[in-house]
Amino acid sequence: MIHYSNYINGQFVESSHGDTITVINPSTGEAISTIPNSTAAEVDAAIDAAEAAQPAWGALPAIERAKHLHVLADKLREKVEPLARCITEEQGKTLGLARVEVNFTADYLDYMAEWGRRIEGEIIESDRPKENIFLFHKPIGVVAGILPWNFPFFLIARKMAPALICGNSIVLKPSEETPNNAFEFCKILAETDIPAGLVNLVSGLGAVSGRALTENPKVGLISFTGSVETGSRIMGAAAKHITKVNLELGGKAPAIVTANADLDMAATAIQASRVINSGQVCNCAERVYVQRSVAEAFTDKLVEKMKAARFGNPLEDETVDYGPMINQAGYEKIVTLLESSVAAGAKVLCGGKRGGDEGGFYFEPTVVGDCTQDMDLVQKEIFGPVVPIVIFDTLDEAVAMANDTEYGLTSSVFSNDINEAMNLVEELNFGETYINREHFEAMQGYHAGWRKSGIGGADGKHGLYEFMQTQVVYMQRH
Ligand code: NAD
Repeated sequence: MIHYSNYINGQFVESSHGDTITVINPSTGEAISTIPNSTAAEVDAAIDAAEAAQPAWGALPAIERAKHLHVLADKLREKVEPLARCITEEQGKTLGLARVEVNFTADYLDYMAEWGRRIEGEIIESDRPKENIFLFHKPIGVVAGILPWNFPFFLIARKMAPALICGNSIVLKPSEETPNNAFEFCKILAETDIPAGLVNLVSGLGAVSGRALTENPKVGLISFTGSVETGSRIMGAAAKHITKVNLELGGKAPAIVTANADLDMAATAIQASRVINSGQVCNCAERVYVQRSVAEAFTDKLVEKMKAARFGNPLEDETVDYGPMINQAGYEKIVTLLESSVAAGAKVLCGGKRGGDEGGFYFEPTVVGDCTQDMDLVQKEIFGPVVPIVIFDTLDEAVAMANDTEYGLTSSVFSNDINEAMNLVEELNFGETYINREHFEAMQGYHAGWRKSGIGGADGKHGLYEFMQTQVVYMQRH
């Protein structure tokens, strides 16, 4: 079994205390690695290294910083296969999706590097003669990047690439469920000329090492992706030093299918949304609202497509559509939500049970009919291959139910009537809305949740500028 060490100041550093966390393959339940359960002192050492490395990096022209990101992107592309296998082994996604994740991560590094020549300040009109008002964008300093387990490799780049191109340094903390790929990433990073201390990685439990990252006054920005509960805790901890937070949290995305929808396309897109990564995706359709006149036809199509989804150990069978849930707790959460909804009158139309080998945390592809707005499956984040369906009569009713949630990440509309679709979009209170397609964002967009789904956002120009602070300079000529 492999053992990993923290990556601090350009070195893999063995902990002195020997306290470790064992990482499990969710497809089999077998132990695959051990990682340091880092102390606050180890996290502080990583922050100190990041603080020391940042000024020289921040002083480089952005285009010089960009060159380093391009080199790293190319190195990742040379290692797609081993990296994909590492991600699949600890996270349980299909190898095909893991390969997409590695390639997308490399592309993301290139994309953010391209901003090197595009970061712009402003010159603002003054009230005074012979005065110029300049607005500069400056690095924030040390960024803390705290990662979830569902797209663990890509999330490294989503934090690191904008942090670095803007002149910051970073300390990353991977999820304790999926740290191996982050250590493998650092091995590749260590082969580049990226200066020591600029990127550091410490593993450990959220309550100790994660917390230490959020309470250190040397950290200028905490960029976090994960659950609402943890996001709330991080915001509380950040309050101590008024540290800026960027929070990408959970979702409960509604998909509205109207009588004017292409039902085959809607069923295909919604099935894909629930099956990809075993339904463990923050922006994927978590609940479906279908108009009564097409409800039966749509439900039949969706049931047929969900039944066709094959699951299993993705390292043993490359052709499966999805793998296991991340862990026992993820599996149990689905069962609890399903049971309470069935007790309240929902009807399982397909699936509904644990599947596969005893060792892995598999769940059958599941469609649940006769759902109502108050049910747990409709209100709470499921994070699994389960689709609850609610029937509506009027579009106003659909919008009211879709907006009736504490989350506000993504939503979707399926309709071939452009007026109807855009009228619905106008009424939907979500940071992202997809029309006639599966739920998945682009790196040049802006992924930002409303309400409890987060603060700030990621990707594109707007995500990039979150990694900088402004300095306004008033220059009076005489
Ligand atoms: P999680 O909140 O359990 O853990 C995320 C990270 O936070 C882990 O690294 C964990 O160790 C750390 N952590 C835990 N407690 C902490 C604390 N007190 N202080 C600092 N760090 C702490 O989330 P998860 O289960 O890994 O991820 C799944 C969740 O992430 C889902 O809710 C999903 O919707 C959300 N998510 C959101 C997006 C998005 O872009 N909005 C993307 C992916 C996942």
